[in-house]
Amino acid sequence: MAQNLKKTNPVTREQRLEAYQPLSGMVLPRFAGISTFMRLPHLSPTQAPGEIDIAILGIPFDGATTNRPGARLGPRQVREASSLMRQVNYGTLVGPYDLCACADVGDVPINPIDVVDTIRRIEAEISYLHQGGVTPLSIGGDHIISYPILRALASKGPLGMIHIDAHSDTGDTFFGGQKLTHGTPFRRAIEDGVLDPKRTVQIGIRGTMYSADERQWALDQGIRIIDMEEVVEKGIPYAITEARRVVGMEPAYFTFDIDSIDPAFAPGTGTPEIGGFTSREALQLVRGFRHLNLIGADMVEVSPPLDQSGNTALVGASIAFELLCLLAEARSERIGKDAQLSVV
Ligand code: MN
Ligand code: MN
Repeated sequence: MAQNLKKTNPVTREQRLEAYQPLSGMVLPRFAGISTFMRLPHLSPTQAPGEIDIAILGIPFDGATTNRPGARLGPRQVREASSLMRQVNYGTLVGPYDLCACADVGDVPINPIDVVDTIRRIEAEISYLHQGGVTPLSIGGDHIISYPILRALASKGPLGMIHIDAHSDTGDTFFGGQKLTHGTPFRRAIEDGVLDPKRTVQIGIRGTMYSADERQWALDQGIRIIDMEEVVEKGIPYAITEARRVVGMEPAYFTFDIDSIDPAFAPGTGTPEIGGFTSREALQLVRGFRHLNLIGADMVEVSPPLDQSGNTALVGASIAFELLCLLAEARSERIGKDAQLSVV
């Protein structure tokens, strides 16, 4: 385990990979023990730079939710459900823990009654990890969390983005001028110059809108929207090919809103929209984005109080594992398997 690492000096990459494995279900059954994401060792975020490659963190904030809340409880429930994950991806055969040293670095200390303060705190923690060469995989929380994450990760220029969601989240304001909501993060990110709309693709969009402006503004900026109508018409392989063309091989972020999936499979979310992806289609879609230059990802909007069966948290944990596989593979390709951990 991680604690034993300090005794060995110098610590090789192989030793770190060995130290940051999930606790095996053969050592302690998967229903036992303290919940961490994917049963990984827990590490303080301050210990992460130079020690691990990928940090999985919770962001338990739903104070920018405009309708039904509860996503603040998402990280805990996803941790619990993620104990069902094993180590190797059946579809791609990627074993993320053999590629990268990963740990659960806990939850960002958000301020549940202050959106602006929370955004500042998220940006500070993600900046710390990013500047320290650690790739973040964040579990929300409502979708506003992606905004400070993008601000933190765009240290070398605006990022591309793959955005899977039932909603464009490019609205302007809610409730008489509120600009920081879970329906506005990507408008803010584009306005701030941290998200390149021409390298941004949104897939599965279908929810009713307050006004057609939300969609038109996104299109006017140059965002490629592959809405659900187009996915149904042309198929998921087309959506993957088109999205990869848009995002290209420059640094990009991946954000997955659980409401992209049909409420038959993932009902526990604040703004469910019928006509969504099956969980099987979601796996096919996410697995289509291997070998891109992904520098971070999130999975958001799981709301346990609305999740009567608990299945939404399982879907969310499973998608988070898929995202981890993408990040681990992308990172190992970026730095080379023999490179030092401290190199981004
Ligand atoms: Mn969203
Ligand atoms: Mn959504």
